Amino acid sequence: MAEDVAGAEQQTRKIVHQALRRPVGALPPAPAAALKLLQVARSEDTGTAEIAQLIETEPALAAKVLKLVNSAYYGFTQRIPSIHRAVTLLGLSTLRQAALHLFFYESIVQRSNEGAFDRLFFWQHSLLVAILSRGFAERLGHEDPDALYAAGLLHDLGKVILESHGKLSYSEFLSTAGTSGNATRDDERLFFGITHDQLGAQVSKAWELPDIVCRTQALHHCGLAQSHLEKSQAQEVAMVALADFIAWTQGIGSARTHTSPSLEPEVLELIDLEQVGLAELLAAADQEMAKIATFYGLHFPSHFQLRANVVTTALTLANAGKVATRPAGSLPLRSVTAPHQSIDPDIFVPQTLRALQQEFALSHLLLLQIEPKGRRFVATHGLPELPQDGQPPGVQIVIDRLAGDLIHCLRERTAVMIHDTPPNRRVLRMLGASVAAAIPVMSQGRLQGLICLYDPESRQPPVSAVLHEIQCVAGELGIALERSRLFALERAKAEMDALTGLPNRSAIDRFLQESFAQASAGRHFGIGLVDIDYFKAFNDTFGHQTGDDVLRIVADTMRGLTRPGDFLGRYGGEEFLFGLMSPNALGIAGYAERIRREIARRGRMLEARFAGHRLSVSIGIAHSRDAYPDIKSLVGAADSALYSAKSSGRNRVCSAWSQE
Ligand code: GH3
Ligand code: MG
Ligand code: MG
Repeated sequence: MAEDVAGAEQQTRKIVHQALRRPVGALPPAPAAALKLLQVARSEDTGTAEIAQLIETEPALAAKVLKLVNSAYYGFTQRIPSIHRAVTLLGLSTLRQAALHLFFYESIVQRSNEGAFDRLFFWQHSLLVAILSRGFAERLGHEDPDALYAAGLLHDLGKVILESHGKLSYSEFLSTAGTSGNATRDDERLFFGITHDQLGAQVSKAWELPDIVCRTQALHHCGLAQSHLEKSQAQEVAMVALADFIAWTQGIGSARTHTSPSLEPEVLELIDLEQVGLAELLAAADQEMAKIATFYGLHFPSHFQLRANVVTTALTLANAGKVATRPAGSLPLRSVTAPHQSIDPDIFVPQTLRALQQEFALSHLLLLQIEPKGRRFVATHGLPELPQDGQPPGVQIVIDRLAGDLIHCLRERTAVMIHDTPPNRRVLRMLGASVAAAIPVMSQGRLQGLICLYDPESRQPPVSAVLHEIQCVAGELGIALERSRLFALERAKAEMDALTGLPNRSAIDRFLQESFAQASAGRHFGIGLVDIDYFKAFNDTFGHQTGDDVLRIVADTMRGLTRPGDFLGRYGGEEFLFGLMSPNALGIAGYAERIRREIARRGRMLEARFAGHRLSVSIGIAHSRDAYPDIKSLVGAADSALYSAKSSGRNRVCSAWSQE
């Protein structure tokens, strides 16, 4: 028996040797201090001085620890210059975590090549599994939760070792699996001769990583039942296996494949989910992930990307048992994920409609959205595409005048078929069809709009069997529409100057970039820099509050002269920028002159309030027609013109073109 085990062990070592470009012993060594720190058991009474000394032997780790203790994350008010002090303040658990991150992320994951294997995504998966495993350990009363953090973080070490040191890389493996989206462990064995878990366990042994790390690597996918481990050790493996599974269901798998995760039945026998308190654990894990991402300056896939992953995951799971009855690739994956691929409705709505059209073989689609005032549905996007602006108004449905099956659709919030009956005729005539289907688009119980499906050429109704699936897509579309509305609101807030209510500098920069791009396509525009004359004197004489009032007065006056389509923002201090879409430079000069005159008029009126200080502005203008190479030189030209206006007596407008 012992001989068998030894033989199998030797065989595995041989296969590992064949799979890698160099012998395991010749792989870059793990940083010694990081490893020792891992091995210092929590119960051992290792002194602060000893740990500090250990850390100091490894400059990279020492630097990391100092960066960590001085980061905003801990918020100590004084700078902490010494490792000894850092050790006292941070504690062993945090230090081990830092050491692990250094060892695993910076010296292994980050150094792997850029390929189909997505390092950041992998790291995110490893972190989430580590955090969840530690969470299980804490809640189940394990004596050393940090050890579970390490086991979780490193559970897929084999994948990244194959990626950087395999004769065939993990990226190559994924790209061959790419067409089917399938990358099971059986596929790994075919490709590499060994699976990632077996290989990882071998490498960990060679590196003398703690036993728990080696064990969980070997057994986190299968073999737990046959392993004859003691219950406490089996439970440790189960914690990592469950964490891995949960991460997968959250759309944070270690590689982007559609493989179903495997979970051995023993796992749930070993872990009492009630004792764990999953909801709270997930929330805490989310927060910790966000903090780690901030500390490392990492941009993990956005919330939207993750939602799309979750949906894909759910669909794959839901259909796992039905694959045989469905033709391959027939899941409406594109339709369901399309709403999450942009924040701009003019991008994601057409994408979604197109995906629906293709995946469900539909003819005509129309999205109607509720107007802000909530009185009407208005067609905003369609396939075939709707006529551009300026055309006669398209399909509209006034909510007060709803009739027929649409009432049922909106009341019950469910998909309905609109048949050719008298109450439905008006809607059908508008669509130009004799039958249609309507699907409500909702988000968090709120109605956002309607999707209509129809075919003017056919009297056949769309198949009602697909309506249910399209309703799922409509649900995703609803969330995406709501999110883009909130995003627009948030952005407007973030781009507003609080004092004057005008767009701020970052909005100005965006305006300039967009307009400059259009100007190169022949749509010219002009800008003006408006600067208050002797503004400092208002502050000095009457105080800052009055200075602020003056800024508001100038802003309001200019706002009153601005038409929809014109741009006006606060450039900074007491300087404003306006922009007008106009091919005509004289038009810009006329507008600037009107502003100057109006403010001077207000200034004369306000002289009673600002005794001795007459409010006026100087303005410098420039026009894109003068072929400036970039935005900076256009704004620079307006600024020089402003300078001329100031130096030639103030309260006047100067143009860049009259200076040349
Ligand atoms: P000039 O005619 O040459 O433009 O003279 P000026 O006094 O208007 O220009 P200067 O650049 O010397 O002074 C601008 C002052 O605007 C200085 C700064 O303290 C003040 N300031 C900038 N932002 C604000 C603000 O938000 N509120 C107030 N009250 N003052 C501001
Ligand atoms: Mg794995
Ligand atoms: Mg000024």
